[in-house]
Amino acid sequence: MARQRQWSYTGQVVIISPRHTLCNVLIKRGKLILKGLARGGRMAEKRHSGYTTLVRECYRSGGYVFARRAADISPGGGTCRVARLASNENPRPPSPMAVEMGFQALQEANRYPDERMADLIRALQEFHGRYHFVTGVGMDGVIETVIRTLVSPGEKVAVSTPTFSFYGLAAVAQGAEVVNVPRDPAFSVDIPSFVRMARDAKLSFLCTPNNPTGTVTPPEEVEEILSAISGVLFLDNAYVEFCDHDYRALMGRYDNLILGRTFSKAFSLAGLRVGYAFMPEWLVPCYMRAATPFTLNSVSASAAIGALHDPLHVQEAVERVRRLREQVIRECRYPVFPSGANFVMVDVSPSTGKEVADRLAESGVLVRSCESFPGLGAHFIRVSIGEEWENAQFLNVINAV
Ligand code: PMP
Repeated sequence: MARQRQWSYTGQVVIISPRHTLCNVLIKRGKLILKGLARGGRMAEKRHSGYTTLVRECYRSGGYVFARRAADISPGGGTCRVARLASNENPRPPSPMAVEMGFQALQEANRYPDERMADLIRALQEFHGRYHFVTGVGMDGVIETVIRTLVSPGEKVAVSTPTFSFYGLAAVAQGAEVVNVPRDPAFSVDIPSFVRMARDAKLSFLCTPNNPTGTVTPPEEVEEILSAISGVLFLDNAYVEFCDHDYRALMGRYDNLILGRTFSKAFSLAGLRVGYAFMPEWLVPCYMRAATPFTLNSVSASAAIGALHDPLHVQEAVERVRRLREQVIRECRYPVFPSGANFVMVDVSPSTGKEVADRLAESGVLVRSCESFPGLGAHFIRVSIGEEWENAQFLNVINAV
């Protein structure tokens, strides 16, 4: 038997094969790290698996639930096209102006981006007006940074649920005490109860149009909340372009409002991960201190500027969604909730959302079963508005289930 060296540390035995050259062994605050095991010129770093308990509780299990991807299924033995209606993406490609500007920026990718994102912020101001903006890696990145900026461990974060799960996940990761405030049975926000629960929260999250229900909360109701709470309200407007309301006017009147926006939906840039927020001026420098240096990469930032230069492209995509959304609502034989977004939520009772989503996947239609949305129950699916053929494929299958 080959001679092996044994290392013993707090009762764990690590066997090191003599075929490896042990460069160094570090013992650091209870962690044993074998560093630089060199073999055949390849360096490797190995951590002893018994140390997984060192991982923070909130990251040991659970986490964000992603929608199923087209590559994960092969309907009919791979013979039919997959309708991708699970992730609320824009089925249309990005504007050619976005592609062109992204391509140009790629050629200078040897340089770091401008850390202030001055060109993108100027383009946002030309598009929306003279507001204050911050950017992030998707709106997800903005949400995470806002939480890091405002919330200390043990402080309260209120979330109007059922909704997008990332607010709760990111807040828990920051050590916050998350308080879920249920919507009413029709999924409208119960304003008095939201105000009661959110009054003393450091930060509150409200999504309008809401993911996954599609429900729109009118600006007057948002205003009621804003004037009654002592903390900051993060109003998630990821899908706002697809609804009839505009919340920007509230920015000038309330200093405790953040409007989260994204280029992932109406602007067709989900793959580039560009998020931004309208933010009160006082908060911007604090956000920038809390953010990871260089909030966005230069290719994504430039493509976003290109997309802002082509408002017609966005307008066409939005009008298509509004028209096709009404058609899906009309032609689906199950109850569909009113929606201001590029998706609809369908009540598939008495079946479960999972059963129906699996059945649809077998026929080449990917939709989202809503079981993973806390507080929603088991009988809903969320269906994005796609191309005409995708919506038709969905309607054919669901109406036959
Ligand atoms: N908010 C909501 C309500 C969303 O549905 C999503 C994406 N699914 C996001 C934020 C995150 O968007 P982004 O792609 O910009 O990270």
